[in-house]
Amino acid sequence: MSYISSLRCLLCGREYKPTEVIYTCPRCGHNGILEVNYNYEVIKKVFTKESLENNKNFFMWRYLPLLPIDNPSLIGPLNVGWTPLYEAKRMMDYLGVNNLWIKDDGRNPTASLKDRASAIAVVKAQELGIATLTCASTGNAASSLAGASASLGLKNFIFVPRTAPKAKIAQLLVFGATVFAINGTYDQAFDLSIEASENFGWYNRNTAYNPYMVEGKKTVALEIAEQMNFDVPDYVFVSVGDGCIISGVHKGFYDLFNLGFVNKIPKLVAVQAEGCKPIVDAVNGDGVIKYVEPHTIADSISVGIPRNGKMAVRDIKESGGFGIAVSDDEILSSIKLLGSIQGIFAEPAGVTGFAGYIKAITNGVIAKNSKVVVIVTGNGLKDVDSAMKSVKSPLQIEPSLESVKCALNNICR
Ligand SMILES: *Cc1c(COP(=O)(O)O)cnc(C)c1O
Ligand SMILES: [Zn+2]
Repeated sequence: MSYISSLRCLLCGREYKPTEVIYTCPRCGHNGILEVNYNYEVIKKVFTKESLENNKNFFMWRYLPLLPIDNPSLIGPLNVGWTPLYEAKRMMDYLGVNNLWIKDDGRNPTASLKDRASAIAVVKAQELGIATLTCASTGNAASSLAGASASLGLKNFIFVPRTAPKAKIAQLLVFGATVFAINGTYDQAFDLSIEASENFGWYNRNTAYNPYMVEGKKTVALEIAEQMNFDVPDYVFVSVGDGCIISGVHKGFYDLFNLGFVNKIPKLVAVQAEGCKPIVDAVNGDGVIKYVEPHTIADSISVGIPRNGKMAVRDIKESGGFGIAVSDDEILSSIKLLGSIQGIFAEPAGVTGFAGYIKAITNGVIAKNSKVVVIVTGNGLKDVDSAMKSVKSPLQIEPSLESVKCALNNICR
């Protein structure tokens, strides 16, 4: 059994046993997101820095005592997590900063951080004896769920906006999901998928509806802390859509703080696109989320109704962090910069945290010697069309050395 002590409603504070409720607070309805509490005193006895040091399982399950899993034998075979944390030396030289680290979570089985949450969802579904799962997604949550499900022989019904990047749809279809490409936004897909799961009894993975997704996403923070020898950074920059990843990052450091592994929680910086920044505005303003009509090239964070907004705003404020918005042009130029200076290829939403870091450094919002981790949340191959907008065309040549020379000298007309 897991070490969960209770599930607590974000709105009314009422606590439940995990066996009492599957999704949200029965009293508050769909907005009553449940947060997972653990019995840290008991965990301390089985989970120590020494036990971690001796653990040779380098993927997210090395943190099993901190995860909401009752039956570990149901864990899938894909290796999720333990993605690289790079000390970004060339980028530091280029930007004239010290202490920049990049966590490349595009290096997961389906190429985004969402794999961390989907890996939990497929276990929870099986624990309930449900073999069919659903979710609404801008693309990555769905492709990660489809991959994890395929690896275990589970079925998927997926709701995505018709405009989702082709590569993400391709992943879904290759993994064998049934895909509903809806003529509408992610925000509409979200409500529809809940209705469908209530109707058909499918297990629902939706962010900020399923209480366990934050728990999976927090493993990125557990890894960052361990990879930095528990000497945590001053800031973590995260791209934000629904606000589930950033709450997961907070939860990971919060767990480690409660276990005495770290002595502080880093300041969390939420980065959104200028055309869709409800969480940034709430964090920097009165704390209240106002819904917007999203306009951004970064499809994974094109979320007008951030479902985990309330929790995210609370966590960012509690950490002493702030919000920052970047333009689509800044996102696109950051794809090229991160790729050409550091060899890391990110999708638009994947690089948005980094674009926010550049802006924060440039504007003097944070000091150049601040110790910073930027999370890259998704791989660039997920959205090649956007990547192509950030670069020049290849040189067109004839198959001859003459043609190469003339292209190099830029004398071909
Ligand atoms: C989902 C996603 C995000 C945003 O995560 P939220 O939990 O919705 O805030 C950022 N980047 C990528 C690549 C994503 O897939
Ligand atoms: Zn409630």
